[in-house]
Amino acid sequence: MKSLPQFEYFEPSTLQYAIYLLNKYSDSACVLAGGTDLIVQMRDGKKVPKYVVNIKKIPQLNRIEVGEKGVVIGALTTVNTIHESHIIKEIFPALHQAAGTLASYQVRNRATIGGNLCNASPAADLAPPLLIYSAKLKIVNKSGENVIPIDYFFLGPGKTVLEPGMLLKEIYIPKPNEGNRSVYLKFGTRRAMECAIVSVAASIRLEDGFCKDVKIALGSVAPTPIRAKTAEAELLDKKIDQRLIENAAEAAAKESKPISDIRASAEYRRDMVKVFVKRALYSLVEESGGQ
Ligand SMILES: Cc1cc2nc3c(=O)[nH]c(=O)nc-3n(C[C@H](O)[C@H](O)[C@H](O)COP(=O)(O)OP(=O)(O)OC[C@H]3O[C@@H](n4cnc5c(N)ncnc54)[C@H](O)[C@@H]3O)c2cc1C
Repeated sequence: MKSLPQFEYFEPSTLQYAIYLLNKYSDSACVLAGGTDLIVQMRDGKKVPKYVVNIKKIPQLNRIEVGEKGVVIGALTTVNTIHESHIIKEIFPALHQAAGTLASYQVRNRATIGGNLCNASPAADLAPPLLIYSAKLKIVNKSGENVIPIDYFFLGPGKTVLEPGMLLKEIYIPKPNEGNRSVYLKFGTRRAMECAIVSVAASIRLEDGFCKDVKIALGSVAPTPIRAKTAEAELLDKKIDQRLIENAAEAAAKESKPISDIRASAEYRRDMVKVFVKRALYSLVEESGGQ
């Protein structure tokens, strides 16, 4: 096994001290949360930070807090904690399902929601559900806090709006409207330890058979996780039927921008977008009583 490059290590117990360190060492420093991405990248020489700031000992970053209007999840909350939360399962089923598909139980015990987002993989499992739930991200820097919609967070593979000295503190998810249904489907070649070849998160509310609150997000088929907005527009305010679902799935496939890599070709991925958007929508219609 390759050894890690040399670095200086810090374990701040307050957010303020973490921000101080991250600003002092700026682009020579890296945040460590669960380490399931970072340590691999350091071993491979893809990241060579001179300073590593482990944020695991900052208690306020590790929490799921339920309010009247929504839920706040601290960036350090592990993927297993999210998967096992009854509140998340009940209110945000797509996030619960996505958390259950990430890697293995052991990895999920270390992996954090913040790390999953900040690593900015196009295949990050928690990103599509957070996109359909219109999550907002609280980012801390030395001059204070800033809240942005998740739609603006990802810039490209491995790239986010976070600059040196910044930290993702927490994720706020507003409660969906009464009657909303949501689902996350992940397509990979194995049952565990598999990054998605295509992933789809979708939510919808059917009102007398008309589609309301339609959101569709895709993973692994563009440089970042994306919303399939043309597909959403195909459905919105229209009466649901087989043809509408076909059109939406077709539109989603068209607006995806997959690449070919070792795991799948772009054409195959595009076909799978169609298949999985259709599956997601049919399952939501069925759950809504088939109206
Ligand atoms: C065997 C294996 C299988 C995997 N399978 C999957 C999978 O199926 N699906 C999937 O989505 N991922 C998978 N992963 C990737 C990884 O487990 C997840 O992305 C995980 O959620 C990362 O969280 P972490 O806490 O370990 O992040 P870290 O490794 O600690 O950090 C990841 C990156 O984010 C930065 N960072 C972390 N937290 C913050 C913060 N709060 N503020 C600012 N920057 C921060 C770090 O500096 C680093 O650049 C897998 C990894 C392994 C090793």
